Amino acid sequence: MRSVYCGVLNASNIDQEVTLCGWVDRRRDHGGVIFIDLRDRDGIVQVVFDPDVEANFKMADKVRSEYVLQVTGKVRARSESTVNKNMATGEIEVYGTNLQILNTAETPPFQLDEHISVGEDVRLKYRYLDLRRQAMQTNLRFRSKVTNAIRNYLDDNGFLDIETPILTRATPEGARDYLVPSRTHDGKFFALPQSPQLFKQLLMVSGFDRYYQIAKCFRDEDLRADRQPEFTQIDIETSFMDEEQIMSVTEKMIRKLFSELKGVDLGEFPRMPFSEAIEKYGSDKPDMRIPLEMIEIKDLMKDVEFKVFSAPANDPKSRVTAMRVPKGGEIPRKKIDAYTKFVSIYGAKGLAYIKVNDKDDLENGLQSPIVKFLPAEVCRAILDRVGAENGDLIFFGADTHKVVTEALGALRCKLGEDLDLYTCEWAPLWVVDFPMFEELDGGALTALHHPFTAPSCSPEELRANPATALSRAYDMVLNGTELGGGSVRIHNQDMQQSVFEILGISEEEQREKFGFLLDALKFGAPPHGGLAFGLDRLIMLMTGSDSIRDVIAFPKTQSAACVMTDAPGAVDTKQLQELHIRLRTKTQAPA
Ligand code: ASP
Repeated sequence: MRSVYCGVLNASNIDQEVTLCGWVDRRRDHGGVIFIDLRDRDGIVQVVFDPDVEANFKMADKVRSEYVLQVTGKVRARSESTVNKNMATGEIEVYGTNLQILNTAETPPFQLDEHISVGEDVRLKYRYLDLRRQAMQTNLRFRSKVTNAIRNYLDDNGFLDIETPILTRATPEGARDYLVPSRTHDGKFFALPQSPQLFKQLLMVSGFDRYYQIAKCFRDEDLRADRQPEFTQIDIETSFMDEEQIMSVTEKMIRKLFSELKGVDLGEFPRMPFSEAIEKYGSDKPDMRIPLEMIEIKDLMKDVEFKVFSAPANDPKSRVTAMRVPKGGEIPRKKIDAYTKFVSIYGAKGLAYIKVNDKDDLENGLQSPIVKFLPAEVCRAILDRVGAENGDLIFFGADTHKVVTEALGALRCKLGEDLDLYTCEWAPLWVVDFPMFEELDGGALTALHHPFTAPSCSPEELRANPATALSRAYDMVLNGTELGGGSVRIHNQDMQQSVFEILGISEEEQREKFGFLLDALKFGAPPHGGLAFGLDRLIMLMTGSDSIRDVIAFPKTQSAACVMTDAPGAVDTKQLQELHIRLRTKTQAPA
C-alpha cells in the first residue's frame, strides 16, 4: 500500500511521487490550506492539501488525530522561511494529490506528545497508543537491533540457539516461583523457569558445546524500580571453556554491540575481586565512573574515647571508614542533613563529617561536630590517609560491616549523581572471586550465586572452610548495573553433593528437586560454564532510559500486574475445578 516510509523522505526525493501510510500526528487548518503531520514508524512528514483538489480537501478537513491515512502526493521543497530544522524531514513536504481514510480513531485518552502529563498507569492501560510515540518506537527498534546483533555474533562463534521449557520444575535462583497448576496431575504444579539454568547444563551434558537462548525468565520478587517479574535473558552456556575464555567471548560480544550500535569503544574490561568492590565501593556492582572510595580507618579509631568510632573499631564484625569528597566543602549543611537521612535508610545511625577548610590548621581549620572528640594526631592521620585537600569534605561510616558498606556505598552513588562527579560515560568491569556462600541472619549458609557454581577449591577444602571459600563466578558490571553474571559449574557429582550438604539440602530433597541433574552428572558431564545477561537492563543502559518499562513492549506495573489486559484475572469455577483448586474466600479462611 505504501511506496516509502514518511520518516525517510528528504531533499533527494524532491519531485518524486510517493504513497505514504500512517497516522495523523497533527492536523492544522491554515486558512484554506490543511497541513497534516503524517506519522509512521520511521518518523513524521508534513502533507499539504489545498482546495484545488476539492474532494481531497474536504476529506482532509474531516481527519482527526490518530486517523489512519493513505496519501499519494509529490515531494516538494519547502520555502526557505518554512524549513523546519528540528524535523528530520523538515526541508520538504508532500503535496497531497490523493487521500484515503483507511480508518478513523476516537479521541485518544492522551495526546502522544502529552504523555508526560498523564500517569504511567494510563500509558500502560493504552500501551498500544503509548508505543506509537517516537521514543518508544526508537527503543523497541533499538532492542530488535541488539538482539539481532547478539544472534549474529553468537552464531558466528558457533553457538546454537536452543529452546528450553517454560513449563518445568523450580530452578533455584533465589526468588519465589510462579506456579502453574496441572490439570492432568491432580494437586501438582509446574514452575515457570527463573532461568534455563538446569536445562542449559543438561544441553552441555548432551554435547551441544555452545548454547544460547534469548529466554524469558520469571521471578516472583518484590519489585524494585528496575525489576520485572517476567524478563529476558541472553542465556549462554559452553563446554570445555574456563572462566577466562567465557569472559573473553562474552566481553567481545558486549564490546561489539557498543561499537556497532553506539559507536562506543568500551576498551578492555578491568577485573576487580568481590572483596575489593565491597571494601572500597560498598557494592558488588561498583559504579566506576565515580571517583570516590571508602578508606578503612579502623586501626586509627581503636583507642579514641569517642565510642561511636571506637566501639565498631574494636568489633571484628564492624567497619570504620572515611570517604573523601573532593571540593565537597561546598555542600551546604542542609544537604548534609538530607544525606544523613538518606543513609538512615540503610540503618546508619548518623553521618559524621569533617569539612577541611585548612588541613594544616588542625585547631581551627576543620569544621565538624566530631573533631572535638578526636585527638589531633588521629585527625592528622585521617587527613593524610584519605589524601585530604583544602575544600574537601570527608564522610565517615562506623557501624556493622553491612550497614557501613551499604550506607556509604549508596551515598557514594548519590554523591556521584548529585555532584555530577562522573569521570567518564561508560565504566565496564568484571567482578570476580566471589565467595561461594553468604551467611544468613541465623548463621546458615546460602549460595551467593546458585548452588551449581563451582568453587575454586577441592571438595575437602570446601567442606573444611565453606564460609571463606571462593567461587569461579563472575559478574559483568556497567555503570553500577549488573549486566550479567555466571560461573564455571560443578560437573562432578561429588562436588555437587558437597555443596548441597553445606547448604543443608538433605539427600531426599536433592533427589526430589534435582535428581535429574545429579543423574546427568554421573553420565559423563563435561567441564562447563556460562552466564546470562539481562537484556532489558542492557537496553535500558544503551538507550539511556530511566525506566525498564520503557524498553519492554508490554511491561508489568510495580505491583506485577498488567493494567491493559487486567492480568492476573479471576477464573471461573469450572476452570478451577478442572485444576483441582478450591479458593479460600475471605469468609472461609480461618480467622
Ligand atoms: N542462571 C544464572 C542467572 O539467571 C546465570 C548463569 O549462571 O548462567 O542469574
